[in-house]
Amino acid sequence: MAAQDHPLMASRSKSRNTPQGPSPFAVEAEALPEGKFTGPDVTADGSQRAEVPLLELETLWLCTGTLCNLACATCYIESSPTNDALVYLTAEHAARYFDEIERDGWHTREIGFTGGEPFMNPHFMAMVEDALSRGFDVLVLSNAMKPMRRHEEKLLALQKAHGAKLTIRVSLDHHTKAVHEGERGANSWDAAIDGLKWLSDNGFAIAVAGRLLPGEGMIEAREGYGKLFERENIRVDAQDPARCVLFPEMDADKDVAEITTACWDILGKSPEDIMCATSRMVVHRKGEPTPRVVACTLIPYDRGFDLGETLAEANRAVKLNHPHCARFCVLGGASCSA
Ligand code: SF4
Ligand code: SF4
Repeated sequence: MAAQDHPLMASRSKSRNTPQGPSPFAVEAEALPEGKFTGPDVTADGSQRAEVPLLELETLWLCTGTLCNLACATCYIESSPTNDALVYLTAEHAARYFDEIERDGWHTREIGFTGGEPFMNPHFMAMVEDALSRGFDVLVLSNAMKPMRRHEEKLLALQKAHGAKLTIRVSLDHHTKAVHEGERGANSWDAAIDGLKWLSDNGFAIAVAGRLLPGEGMIEAREGYGKLFERENIRVDAQDPARCVLFPEMDADKDVAEITTACWDILGKSPEDIMCATSRMVVHRKGEPTPRVVACTLIPYDRGFDLGETLAEANRAVKLNHPHCARFCVLGGASCSA
């Protein structure tokens, strides 16, 4: 089920600055035909669907909740200032997962925090502090706008105590203001650049997450980001794919090939390279008594990707039965780690 079709999504409303036009990043493809991505085990043409086993839980993502100060045109999780389909995760719930990692001997290196805008969650700084004090690397995805700036003092203290163990990855959808605001809405550029410069000036470990326009090449995009970072004196190497992460597009309603077991050899790829071989995400859906563990950051609502309440339950193979599996992960070659 696409995020926008989920019943919880009915409550989504737009913010003041919601972009008015179509997303500049819209996927150019035919509509997804009926019959694709239906059965978990076989594809529409009867081939065996590919699956990805969990090799190690290197990264555990915690979705802090869907509320966000922005309402971007193609936010995959449909965040907005009023959508609380995924409620705020609490520090107590986060600690339960950290405890489980420690108890069961997972070799987890990194805790990733995503939203919504994580800094809007009132329990967020406590969760970050808990994760850092347990020795995990922490990666925070943020738009670096006002919600983050309210926590400057605490962030500086964490940075002083933990240095590069804390990375903040700022979403800057494009290297131009016009395209960024076409996706993210009016007045979203200057505040994000300001936030990024504040992080850079204060010595934080930082990264930038961007996107490619249809037809825009990787070389061209990295050049554009490079010029921007130079102009604004931002310490990010635009040529480093781990520090300037450029993501492929997703659209669950557009046609894409299904991934079969034969695809690995044909594409020269391995299940080990796919995000869900080394990560899981915790979400707390509105109306549910406890958080749940889902296969990855991209598919928080689809029941077919809900793997249980604990990490132990979620230790099983994931069937690649979603258009995002094909377009974003296998064909787009995306990775979500710092
Ligand atoms: S800032 Fe991120 S979470 Fe918020 S609406 Fe935009 S894409 Fe979604
Ligand atoms: S979209 Fe999620 S479940 Fe599908 S292949 Fe990618 S990481 Fe795995």
